[in-house]
Amino acid sequence: MRVPVLTYHAVNIAGNDYNGNDHVAFASDLRLIDDMGLRIVPAGWLVDEMMGAAKRDLTNAVVLTCDDGSHFDYFDLDHPSHGRQRSLYNAMADFADERGADAQPNLHLTCFVIASPEAREHIDRGCLAGAGWMGEEWWKPALQSGRIGIENHSLDHNHTAIPLPGIAGMERGSFFPVDTRERADAEIADAARYIDAAIAPNRTTLFCYPFGQSNAYLREEYFPRHTETHRMRAAFGDGAAPVTMQSDRWNVPRYICGWHWHSPDELRAILREAA
Ligand SMILES: [Zn+2]
Repeated sequence: MRVPVLTYHAVNIAGNDYNGNDHVAFASDLRLIDDMGLRIVPAGWLVDEMMGAAKRDLTNAVVLTCDDGSHFDYFDLDHPSHGRQRSLYNAMADFADERGADAQPNLHLTCFVIASPEAREHIDRGCLAGAGWMGEEWWKPALQSGRIGIENHSLDHNHTAIPLPGIAGMERGSFFPVDTRERADAEIADAARYIDAAIAPNRTTLFCYPFGQSNAYLREEYFPRHTETHRMRAAFGDGAAPVTMQSDRWNVPRYICGWHWHSPDELRAILREAA
């Protein structure tokens, strides 16, 4: 098994070209993946395989994920500088309309969202337009569409846009200081509890490290030894490598759009190398 996991940030809108706009890149990449004869599958399938919980054929599979969870994931929105943006969700619908339901029958995007409404409000005001684009009202309909998974991207991202002290004295702006039980329970287990209540009867089982940053405590102790508390099955980072059976389930590697690739050609090279 060698499965590349691709990551987008729907709030990355610096213009309307592939390089600098994750909506443009995402729509283009769906077609590239399909043209290359690869199959998009849900992130959960990959984790099932890593855990030995299922045996599916993941040859030529690709997984799609998206971080931070804003309205740009689900709703078409007018960006203040760059105009109308087609949501990632609607980009998948456009793709399915264009190529037919048989083209990618398991088309799926896993959206990692931030749990705390207060944190999301601060991020909305500090990093977006302050237009209420970090709300959670889309989580349930997105899930019910069958094309989107809602998963755990921590309680507050320990984000610098939040003008409040970090959990248990943490300095803001990094996930590396989440190195105690108290901090990990707050950022991971409490976040899962909040999101699970919002999407019941569904629940989260996947985590994604804010800033892609993990540490030995989380990877080697908290995640593997306290599964009954956090109930996560895997944690995703960056790492820019295909996922294999040897990959660390508590730091699953991903490729990030705009960092690990900037053009269809660069993505094609990544996908070819993985296959
Ligand atoms: Zn993030």
